[in-house]
Amino acid sequence: MTSKKQRVFRFAPSPNGYLHLGHAYSALLNFDLARECGGRFLLRIEDIDRGRARPEFEAAIYEDLAWLGFDWERPVRRQSEHFDDYARALERLDEMGLIYACDCKRSDIARATAAQAYWPRDPDGSPIYPGTCRTKPRRSAREVRAKGGVAMRLDMRLASTLIGQGLAWREFGDVSPSLRAQRSNPESLANVWMASSAAPPRNDGEATVIAADPAQWGDVVLARKDTPASYHIAVVVDDALQGVTDVVRGKDLFEATSLHRLLQHLLDLPAPNYLHHDLIMDEKGEKLAKSVASTALRALRTQGWTPADVRRRIGS
Ligand code: GLU
Repeated sequence: MTSKKQRVFRFAPSPNGYLHLGHAYSALLNFDLARECGGRFLLRIEDIDRGRARPEFEAAIYEDLAWLGFDWERPVRRQSEHFDDYARALERLDEMGLIYACDCKRSDIARATAAQAYWPRDPDGSPIYPGTCRTKPRRSAREVRAKGGVAMRLDMRLASTLIGQGLAWREFGDVSPSLRAQRSNPESLANVWMASSAAPPRNDGEATVIAADPAQWGDVVLARKDTPASYHIAVVVDDALQGVTDVVRGKDLFEATSLHRLLQHLLDLPAPNYLHHDLIMDEKGEKLAKSVASTALRALRTQGWTPADVRRRIGS
C-alpha cells in the first residue's frame, strides 16, 4: 500500500545578506515541486548566527519572495526562537557520550595542524580538528550551555562506531559519473530510513543511493562558543520537527548531507529525500555571493526586472 502522506518542502535562507538569483532558483524549485505534488511549502529563517543575522535582511526575504509570487505557511519558523530544541538534541548526544567541550581557538587549531607536513581538511576547507580537547575531562552539555563561551564537538570516531554499515541517502539531483562510481551504493538502500512515501520529488526522478561519509568532517562543532547550536544540529532538528520529506538545496551542501544523515541516525530522526541542485553562476562562471550587491533580487527589481525575467534567467 502506498502512503498518501503529504510531501513537505522547505526553503531555508539565512538572513545575513540579500537574496540573489541563486536563492530565487532554490526557492522556485522547492515551490514548484511542492505545487506539482500537492505538497506543502515552508519558509524557515535560519538566523542562529546572531552576529550576522539582521532584521532588515529578514524583512527583505519576505519582500523578495512575495515579489516573486510565492506564498508560504505562517507562522514562519525562526531558528533563533528555538534554541531549547537544539539544546535537547545536544543533551541527547551528550547522554550517549558523543560530544565534548572544546575551548580551542582557531589559532590553536592552526598551530597544531600547521606543524604537520600534510593535514586533512573537511569539505568546507577547514583543517580537521586535531582532537586536542577530546581526552580532557568531560563537561556536560547543560553545564557548557549555562556557562557559554565553549564549543561542543561531536566525537566522530565514537559516533562512527555506532552507525554500522550502510548509512546512505536517496539523492534525486544529478550525480556525476565519478561520484556515482565512488559513492553510489544500491545495496544500502534497505538501510535508508524512508521518511514517508518512496515517491520521488519529480515524477521523472530516479534516486541514486549515496553512501554517507561523515568521517570526512572530523569532530565537527555542534554548538558554537557564541551560539548554543550550529547549522548542522539546527537543520536536522528542524527538518524533523517540521516533517520535511524533501530537502531541495544547492550542491554546495551535498557533503553536509553525510553529516546530517549521521545526526539523524544518532537522534532517531527520519531521513528525508535529498535533491542537491546546480548553483547559479555569474557571467564569469563564479558562484553568486550575498556580498555582491549587483545580483541581489532587489537590485534587479530596481533595474526593472520582473519575476518572469528572473524565471527566464534561471531557466525555471
Ligand atoms: N541556511 C542555509 C543557507 O542559507 C541553507 C540550509 C539548507 O537548505 O539546509 O545557505
